[in-house]
Amino acid sequence: MQKMWVAGRWTGSVSEKTFPVDNPATEEIIGEVPRAGARDADLAVQAAAEAFRDWRVVPGIERAALMHEFAARLRAKRLAVARQLTLEGGKPLVENLDEIEWCAACFDYYGELARDQAGKVISPVFRHQINFVRKEPYGVVVTIVPWNYPLLLLTWKLAPALAAGNTVVIKPSNETPLSTLMLAEDLGIFGTGVVNILTGFGAEIGDPLVVHPDVALVAFTGSIATGKAIAQAAAPHLKKLNLELGGNDPFIVCDDVDLDVAARGAVWAAFLNMGQVCTSGERFYVFESVFEEFTRRFVAHARRLRLGDPLGPDIDCGPLIREAHRRQIEAKIEDAVSQGARVLAGGRRPPQFKKGFFFEPTVLVDVKQTMSIMRSETFGPIAPLVPVRGIEEAVRFADDSEYGLGASILTNNLEHALYAMENIHAGTFWINDPLTDNDAGPFGGMRQSGIGRELGIEGLDAFREPKHVHLDYRIEAKPYWYPYRWDHVKKDAHG
Ligand code: NAD
Repeated sequence: MQKMWVAGRWTGSVSEKTFPVDNPATEEIIGEVPRAGARDADLAVQAAAEAFRDWRVVPGIERAALMHEFAARLRAKRLAVARQLTLEGGKPLVENLDEIEWCAACFDYYGELARDQAGKVISPVFRHQINFVRKEPYGVVVTIVPWNYPLLLLTWKLAPALAAGNTVVIKPSNETPLSTLMLAEDLGIFGTGVVNILTGFGAEIGDPLVVHPDVALVAFTGSIATGKAIAQAAAPHLKKLNLELGGNDPFIVCDDVDLDVAARGAVWAAFLNMGQVCTSGERFYVFESVFEEFTRRFVAHARRLRLGDPLGPDIDCGPLIREAHRRQIEAKIEDAVSQGARVLAGGRRPPQFKKGFFFEPTVLVDVKQTMSIMRSETFGPIAPLVPVRGIEEAVRFADDSEYGLGASILTNNLEHALYAMENIHAGTFWINDPLTDNDAGPFGGMRQSGIGRELGIEGLDAFREPKHVHLDYRIEAKPYWYPYRWDHVKKDAHG
């Protein structure tokens, strides 16, 4: 059995309970991890709180050196970690290798950014004063992450949290705890208790962590429903929250682009990681003048995707994460079809696989904006294609949503691109290059897709709070202290 990592040591859960982890491509059990509860939460938070006393005052240059060291360790074991990510999460190995490099680069980035950006000096209002704003760590930070990018979404929290001087308790998804645990001893370089890892199920371990009095901030990525549950649990304690939630991203295709390039880009945005990406293209609005031709090419590219063992080689897509998720996706397709949608490709379990939660990339047409497939996040391999009369209608449909995570457009028409950018609620807007990331810029959601931002300086500030310091280098009695001088008031009042 694999153990958890608390206070610099491998440990089981206090209850000694465990749970299995499976491989979604084979349905085989590949590991067993402790099932942590409230008492384990307490021990991990205590370890992090003790470690905070020292970690908070470690100079930035030393923190940065450790972050670079961690990044180097991550790169050195990238193949082994990527294999583990693939085994437990089902994402193709080639994508997991990329994920690890992005994590390493993010640690490098925040190590240096925190050295450079520790606050600011502002202009004083009185003579002899120096006013400066220090950015201070919160204390113990809890990170709760999903299974689709287990290490990347963790890194977007862990790297800035550590760089800012916080200590951390990590709760990976119960679907994908093994890859995170592989990094435990490497995370040990930051010091005993600076980073702790608890494995367990949603609310069972999440709730005691969220409400723990010594936890200052909860950084969460996951569904809107869980985000709301966490916000409710946190509210009586006024806990600081950073929430990265679901998306239902629109994708606009105009009539002035190379349709084959557009179809390839759109297929990638729809089916990357089987559509289990928070910013995957979930609703495609295509100019009606090119709709038929675009759809033909989109279907052809979707049919060409190679499903199979995510360890590869020569596959493009692996399985879905679990059977229950596959059933939800099937139910969504059935619902759309019962209301008149047509399946042009996919829509079924691929018959060649006897095991594994595989599903064929699915293309739907004759879809209405009112269908559940268009209103709520699917988080799966379904691409509904909708013809639109022009940019105004495309933008109107695209923005008709409770979500606001990302949005994409493919066009060479500057006016179309910028009109869409200006009128669609989205934390990230991609023009002609969907779904790319850049550590140096903010990522997060508008509307119900989240509160706060990760990455960039915004993502560092999410893990520190400002303290405004007024320093007067001359101690002397100030004219505005007691006793008050009334001369000017009397003059004003009585002339
Ligand atoms: P989820 O909300 O079910 O679970 C996310 C994490 O929260 C898991 O670790 C889970 O164990 C934990 N959890 C569940 N209930 C909890 C509770 N009551 N208290 C505390 N923790 C709890 O999401 P998922 O199925 O793992 O991931 C898919 C969702 O994540 C999708 O909605 C997707 O859009 C979203 N997501 C968002 C982003 C983003 O950056 N905005 C990125 C990736 C995924």
